[in-house]
Amino acid sequence: METYAPCPSCHRLNRISIDSEARKPVCGVCKTGIPMHSQVVEVDAVGLQKLIRKSPLPVVVDFWAPWCGPCRMFAPTFEQASRDLGGRFVFAKLNTEAHPEGAAPFGIRSIPTLMVFENGNEKKRQSGAAPLDAFKAWLAQGSV
Ligand SMILES: [Zn+2]
Repeated sequence: METYAPCPSCHRLNRISIDSEARKPVCGVCKTGIPMHSQVVEVDAVGLQKLIRKSPLPVVVDFWAPWCGPCRMFAPTFEQASRDLGGRFVFAKLNTEAHPEGAAPFGIRSIPTLMVFENGNEKKRQSGAAPLDAFKAWLAQGSV
């Protein structure tokens, strides 16, 4: 199975095997380390746009911030979902404090906000953290 992650330096979209979690992924072009937690990739504004437009899999994005308690509590749930649903979705998180320009195009008013993109378009969104089972059920709705 594999996931997709934009390089934080050159923004090339990398295909990453998720069967070998122990190995730290690096960009195939510039060899920069790709920041991943479990199978969740950290993206900036440019990386997010690249990922949404180029990913062959639907992309689930967690818009969060370090000062947001519910966001921090939800992070392990998001990582668990990324392991459970690996190969079906790409999981990404964007720090809206470090990269506010990454959230601006989507008119996000509260965090955490979770969004799903398919073929470059928003498919659905949800505000607020959710328990793992509810989150996975929400992701599965309307998916093949
Ligand atoms: Zn690179």
